[in-house]
Amino acid sequence: MELKKIEEVIEPTHPRIAYFSMEIALQSDIPTYSGGLGVLAGDTLRAAADLKLPLVAVSLLHAEGYFDQSVDPDGNQSEQPSKWNPADFMELMPNDVSVKIEGRDVKLKAWRYEIESVNGGIIPVFLLDADVEGNEEQDRQLTKRLYGGDRSYRLKQEIILGIGGVRLVESLGFDKLEKFHMNEGHASLLTLELLKDSDNNEELVKDVCVFTTHTPVAAGHDKFDYNLVQSIIDTENFPIDLIKKYAGDSELNTTQLALNLSGFSNAVAKKHSVVSKNMFPGYNIRAITNGIHSNTWTCDELAEVFDKHLEDWRVDPFNLRSAVVIPSNEIWEAHQNAKRRLFQVIKEKTDIDYDPEIFTIGFARRATGYKRAHLIFHDLKRLREVVKNAGNIQIVFAGKAHPNDGEGKDNIKRIYDVAKELGGEVKVVFLEGYDMDLAKLMVSGVDVWLNTPMRPREASGTSGMKAAHNGVPNFSVLDGWWIEGHAENITGWGIGHKPTEVSLDADANVDDEDAKDIYSKLEYVILPTYYSRRDEWIHIMKNAIAFNGSFFTTRRMVLQYVSKAYIR
Ligand SMILES: *Cc1c(COP(=O)(O)O)cnc(C)c1O
Repeated sequence: MELKKIEEVIEPTHPRIAYFSMEIALQSDIPTYSGGLGVLAGDTLRAAADLKLPLVAVSLLHAEGYFDQSVDPDGNQSEQPSKWNPADFMELMPNDVSVKIEGRDVKLKAWRYEIESVNGGIIPVFLLDADVEGNEEQDRQLTKRLYGGDRSYRLKQEIILGIGGVRLVESLGFDKLEKFHMNEGHASLLTLELLKDSDNNEELVKDVCVFTTHTPVAAGHDKFDYNLVQSIIDTENFPIDLIKKYAGDSELNTTQLALNLSGFSNAVAKKHSVVSKNMFPGYNIRAITNGIHSNTWTCDELAEVFDKHLEDWRVDPFNLRSAVVIPSNEIWEAHQNAKRRLFQVIKEKTDIDYDPEIFTIGFARRATGYKRAHLIFHDLKRLREVVKNAGNIQIVFAGKAHPNDGEGKDNIKRIYDVAKELGGEVKVVFLEGYDMDLAKLMVSGVDVWLNTPMRPREASGTSGMKAAHNGVPNFSVLDGWWIEGHAENITGWGIGHKPTEVSLDADANVDDEDAKDIYSKLEYVILPTYYSRRDEWIHIMKNAIAFNGSFFTTRRMVLQYVSKAYIR
């Protein structure tokens, strides 16, 4: 047997895995992401770089981003295109490929961005760009707006990502690819290109495809009318009958397409796997629980403390498990400094003074109905009573509503209305422009991280993991990752029913019960611990880091993808 040095086997210029995602959060000021899915993709690649995996990623350029959010003093959101210059961050490749859309050849270029680990590992990311000379004006718009436009626009983007993406990695000379990982169904059209290239060898395609589903909400899965598909896709290469065989008879369901042609499929938390199997019976949808990239999401103040006490945690965050032995005063001081930094930003943005000695709740995520941002305001009389009996509370909100999500926009407005109604009795601010920077500032600068989704709609949730890394305990409905990370009074607190007590498709309105539980835990457990038993509080902060920071990482997650999905 011939032995080779490992560097010869794993050449970074010859990736084995291609990772496809409609959005990737490369860095805070590159607006190629809308929220959790994109941040997860970015954190996945950052961990892959730490691990020096032979992996390459493909996405779209999104030259106008998702959108920049502004909110007027009455709480009305408006949207502007994001402005950024790709050439400031990445390099335009000489290669071009093309896809057929409505019978036209649409030429695609690609930008190369590098994700670099502190240990030197590099993951190349290629962003497809249809704004190429020679393309018709309408086609040049196709890689401009993330989740913008109508169904036709979305399908065209998915053709570019899936089919164009496979053509791109081929043209780049990546001929050792063994796995194609679809991060959500947006990328599932890549299976059609792989089928074509293999003369419809279904088994071969399954062998190379890996699929991760991200939403337990049926409406969240992309579906396309076959009339639309017929008018847009290259039917010569991709006959509708063949698509129907894998993607469903009545409409093209991208999740079904991916499930049918992937040898490994997974959901993003244990509970989400159960919910997904219920939604798509007959498929073995396994669970690989999400994580976050520790070095990206730990605030500077705490990172400095970790550097002093924990070995190599930035690359190997399993070492965060030893955080329990860090002296309490160092954790507390670092946290208070992060808190002051957040409050300075609040002052700059809103001219409201927040007091670092007052217990502060953070809530930031996509503004949409099921996330129930307003739940803590369900009974304002009771909230005032809690504050009177147990101590002051300040609350910080952030989050963007999709431009077409009226309910999400109403939720933002409601926060502004309640802030006025409370008149400073409980301070409430909403910070506009939620992005990675603001997320990091918030998850490290508040005292507790609140999450109140309607069960079972939170597939995983990752902002709570970011909070845990920063010693900020979670106070959340038991759904998604928190079912796995929750240990009552040890890593934080649950809200409402245990997951075993609610049925899978329970969208039953439990606002009353959940709100009651929020108020009573605040009054009798959380506020008394924070204000009167500070040692116990800091112990919980350390537990959050040691139990949850060490486990809910993309390092652990990517290693699971390697052992379960990539090498199988
Ligand atoms: C982490 C993050 C999210 C995802 O948070 P969830 O808890 O999953 O909703 C969304 N947006 C930004 C900017 C983030 O950093």
